[in-house]
Amino acid sequence: MLPEPIQECINVFSRLPGVGPKTAARLTFFLLRDRESDLPQKLAEALVELMSGTDTCPICFNMMSSGQEQCSICESQQRDREIICVVEEPLDLAALEATSGFPGLYHVLGGALSPVEGITPDDLKIKELIERVKDGSVKEVILATNPSMEGDATSMYLQQQLSPYDIRVTRLARGLPMGGDLEYADQHTLLRALMGRQEMD
Ligand SMILES: [Zn+2]
Repeated sequence: MLPEPIQECINVFSRLPGVGPKTAARLTFFLLRDRESDLPQKLAEALVELMSGTDTCPICFNMMSSGQEQCSICESQQRDREIICVVEEPLDLAALEATSGFPGLYHVLGGALSPVEGITPDDLKIKELIERVKDGSVKEVILATNPSMEGDATSMYLQQQLSPYDIRVTRLARGLPMGGDLEYADQHTLLRALMGRQEMD
């Protein structure tokens, strides 16, 4: 019974993770409440810029500004190019960067293996990781997938895939809350897990 543009806005907000129809309706009516507000326009512009102004790094699959050839981490000459830390999502990378405790490069998988959700190795940037390792300059791969069933399964799979290569494969130390997400771990805990990383075998 709502005007079509209102219903459409509610439908779109509802597609976001963690936003149910009630929250979507509340957000929509919040935007409508003050017709003088610049927020709806700002929101629309930010979303357009979000997509047109960003791109994925072709090396590590981190986010970067569009027009860059590679992300600032891959580009930096200060980073240790012999260590690659493998994470599920860009936000996990951001959490590790915030600890200032990791000097190496990253590789963003784009998720974790999940039979339930139908996510297979082909859906993740695994082939691309192997290609980077094959190149020969990498000495250590740190598996920093989330402490969850999917994260563990992904790490085990990666360990198998990396075993033919003459590199050290390590996993973040236990101590991160199981079922949690790296991006929500506090810096201290994350740094300790990084420093205490262990060989996988
Ligand atoms: Zn990169």
